[in-house]
Amino acid sequence: MNSYDEEAISKFRLSGKILRETREKMRRFVREGMRIIDICEKAENLIREKGGEPAFPCNVSINEVAAHYTSPPEDEKRIPEKSVVKVDMGVHVDGYVTDTAVTICFNPEYRSLVKTAEQALEAAINIIHPGISTAKIGSTIEKTIKSRGFKPISNLTGHQVGRYLVHAGTSIPNVSHMSFFSKVKLGGMYAIEPFVTLPDAVGKVKNGEEVMIFRFFKSRSLKNLNAKQLLKCIEKNFRTLPFAERWLQNVLPKEHYPEAFQELLSSKALVGYPVFIEASGKTVAQAEHTIMIVEDGCAVLT
Ligand code: MN
Ligand code: MN
Repeated sequence: MNSYDEEAISKFRLSGKILRETREKMRRFVREGMRIIDICEKAENLIREKGGEPAFPCNVSINEVAAHYTSPPEDEKRIPEKSVVKVDMGVHVDGYVTDTAVTICFNPEYRSLVKTAEQALEAAINIIHPGISTAKIGSTIEKTIKSRGFKPISNLTGHQVGRYLVHAGTSIPNVSHMSFFSKVKLGGMYAIEPFVTLPDAVGKVKNGEEVMIFRFFKSRSLKNLNAKQLLKCIEKNFRTLPFAERWLQNVLPKEHYPEAFQELLSSKALVGYPVFIEASGKTVAQAEHTIMIVEDGCAVLT
């Protein structure tokens, strides 16, 4: 699982390069008042133009929304003034997944919050080496965040990535107290992603009402022919990776789409990922890189 051959490693590296270039373009592209759907599509199209595929829909999560918002079809929502915007993107090249995020800050009040997420990520990267425990990484992230007067989100974690897998096994906590003891392995690929909020926040996320990102769960025998056709397309294209409704627009005539999609959800052929919202409604910042564990430390792929 962790011993990728040279070809696989070069595909991970290409995946990371495409994602790094996309992230840096997006950092400069996003503006207050912009339509969120234009941001999602811009990122996803850049990834495709550069020869990758989106590993999951581009997430654009604003203020107290920590993660998992992507635009539904014909989304009218815009980037609010003075907001804190997390853009979280993934690429795969022949299945080899990398994952990165940037927080874009339109409110000077939150500049140090955003900086803290970046510094926590940097601190983690500086200490990671083969065999380090995930608890040690979590405590380094937590200490960095607390030393700057902020709070980590304790129930969101980084994760191992793999082939056609965004969450592949090991989790990387953002706090020291974790029940599982595990170590990062030489040759392993991991996404490290501190989430930071204000000191008076609860410091946890809860599920919101909205569900905009989905994943195939199980084949089901369905009576509704439209639902059947939609599921066939999903199984073919997104067997293990998350997708958005925007990516399925030409499969069925528009008028049949809502009922078919609803059927797939109620039959549990699909699972949804609800948006994550900071439990006390406080603003959240995030930074994320995908790294490869090498002999003397780690190499940042993104
Ligand atoms: Mn991510
Ligand atoms: Mn991630």
